[in-house]
Amino acid sequence: MMALEKYWAKRKFTRTPEPKGKVLKTGMSRFVVHEHWASHHHFDFRLEMDGVLKSWAVPKEIPQEAGIKRLAVQVEDHPIDYINFEGEIPEGSYGAGTVKIFDRGEYELIERTKNTISFILKGKKLKGSYSLIKFKGPNQWLLIKEKK
Ligand code: MN
Repeated sequence: MMALEKYWAKRKFTRTPEPKGKVLKTGMSRFVVHEHWASHHHFDFRLEMDGVLKSWAVPKEIPQEAGIKRLAVQVEDHPIDYINFEGEIPEGSYGAGTVKIFDRGEYELIERTKNTISFILKGKKLKGSYSLIKFKGPNQWLLIKEKK
């Protein structure tokens, strides 16, 4: 499987506590949001899809009120095992800094096309309808909290 090669290439698993992981189709539809105090504080929004966690870095807070849009930069797919990861990525490693789970839960997929993913989040903090819309280049998306 090709899907995790970028993830593996960026990390030394003898140094980082992050899971090496593998592509794993669980039949579940889960999401996790990591809060990540790296060189720039950000949130990582991840959807379980295609046996990996499709991942976007969101520089600002994840929207919780309808109509709010946030830039979401797609990053390398992460392994399913990352859904439970919290810890300290050591200095000198890719993404060095503290990672904590901000929220997690299941989601219901509403629509998926090349440039749009719509879904309902069922987290503790994040609930309701959201869309990810690709708007520019290979990796720039908007994460939108929908009005419903
Ligand atoms: Mn991150």
